[in-house]
Amino acid sequence: MEFAAFAERADEIEATSADLEIVSLVRDLFSVADDDLDTVARFVQGRVFPAHESTTLDIGPNLCYEAIARAAGHNVSADDVESRVAAVGDVGDVAAEYDFGGQQGLSAFGGTDDSAGLTVGEVESELQDLAAATGSGSQDRKLDRLFGLFNRCDPDEARYLARIVLSEMRIGVGEGTVRDATTEAFDVPVEAVERALQVTNDYGLVATVAREDGPSGLDDLHLEIGRPVQAMLAQAGTVTDAVESWGSVAVETKYDGARVQVHYDGDSVSLFSRNMEDVTDPLPEVVDFVEDSLTAPAILDGEVVAVDDDGDPLPFQEILRRFRRKHDVAKAQEEVEVELWAFDCLHADGEDLLDAPLADRHARLDTLLDSRVSTLAVTDDPDEIADIEADALDAGHEGIMLKDPDSPYSPGRRGKEWLKRKPDVETLDLVVTGAEWGEGRRAEFLGTFELSVRAGPDEFETIGKVATGITDEELAELTDLLEPKVRAEDGKTVEIDPSVVFEVGYEEIQTSPTYSSGYALRFPRYLGVREDKNPENADTLKRVERLADGE
Ligand code: AMP
Repeated sequence: MEFAAFAERADEIEATSADLEIVSLVRDLFSVADDDLDTVARFVQGRVFPAHESTTLDIGPNLCYEAIARAAGHNVSADDVESRVAAVGDVGDVAAEYDFGGQQGLSAFGGTDDSAGLTVGEVESELQDLAAATGSGSQDRKLDRLFGLFNRCDPDEARYLARIVLSEMRIGVGEGTVRDATTEAFDVPVEAVERALQVTNDYGLVATVAREDGPSGLDDLHLEIGRPVQAMLAQAGTVTDAVESWGSVAVETKYDGARVQVHYDGDSVSLFSRNMEDVTDPLPEVVDFVEDSLTAPAILDGEVVAVDDDGDPLPFQEILRRFRRKHDVAKAQEEVEVELWAFDCLHADGEDLLDAPLADRHARLDTLLDSRVSTLAVTDDPDEIADIEADALDAGHEGIMLKDPDSPYSPGRRGKEWLKRKPDVETLDLVVTGAEWGEGRRAEFLGTFELSVRAGPDEFETIGKVATGITDEELAELTDLLEPKVRAEDGKTVEIDPSVVFEVGYEEIQTSPTYSSGYALRFPRYLGVREDKNPENADTLKRVERLADGE
């Protein structure tokens, strides 16, 4: 396809604002793209490489301005181009203002006929060569090649070349547009296109396969070891939501590190960041761990955490320093050690597992690795979830993830299948008015504490019970503190003189007939004793009413 024809259609698309019309125009473009469909499907989004490739052109705005200036002739400097871009706001529109081609014969194209029209394929292969230039003098070589390209552009072509080079296409074509245009152009089901995109991350490949081999060709596309897919993402959510939506909840530590996708082909390891950048070289100890531990080819999802000398997690900023490190990796490794915690398995030993339920994928992960696998507890008991959260926080982790144990792995999706538990927005300071003696190992301690709000002077109404988030040591201390205040005893249950105030976290306040205040707390957790408060300063029923009304 002629690059000029591509530019003309891109102009039409840019001039259109209705989404459906844009899809139709992109569909028409795909229908005439011939051998260049692969490239056109990327160029139209301002991409030169498939999303899964870490390669970049490594051309900054300044180098691009310089190339434009050179092609525009002696009277134009890179500074002139830069100030025009500042004034106009778009590098493409500025590139289209100049009259290129006057510099014929100066271009770096040895032997190429400069007067012939550019094709999409030529632009792509020039840009690929340009991306491959590395090492000393590479910026000059890139500049020469880019100048050569601009020099062959008419204004409209220059507009899109500049935009593609700087990944600023801005014609209103997003990933969804390309997906729908592929579906319409080649009459294939949108679900098949979507799935194929998820496993390949390559719009060009998917469009070409849709055209050549139809739905069955799309279905034959699978994950490939070494080709990263987008990470599945999480929304914020509550334990209450999770238990109500799924019944059983898969609960896991939320590690405070950086996401890593591990690809092992049975021989070598590649590691990719959340943005699908190749981070293999900066993380040699993770590579060693995977090589030593995995026995079968696999694609795993996990988090890389920075740890101190005792193996305790360090803040997340420490890990970023390692990710960015290109030189002196060994030195960086001495400063900050990292370790991988795997929590999902997308592919194992020739089998794609994206559609398998999380619980099965995790079980498979357990068979692949015998250490550094997250513990996945499946439970419907909010108290157990609270205990897992307290343990995770005690161990220095960020919190917990709640996942639907039946859910498939959906690359790139930020759905409701994975929830990161929202931190509490509010806490309440509540008076302890009763308790229950524990059982078994905890029989000599008061265990479950009845909590009340202040309803008036010396008047308290119950609002819930808290039993979770309390360590054995704290239970012993609380028993010592509260036992002298026991007012009456009835079997295991005791009434306590209002004197001690607990700070309590919760997810939600609901109206409830169970407690005398008329309200109940969802997912209450003990956070500590408010030593500085007595019952007169505890939270009031009025405040609870306001919070329940969402004020
Ligand atoms: P956030 O970055 O706050 O949106 O939280 C989501 C991120 O938590 C994910 O992208 C992961 O990098 C990270 N994470 C830590 N532990 C887990 C886990 N067990 N499951 C999924 N994601 C996790």
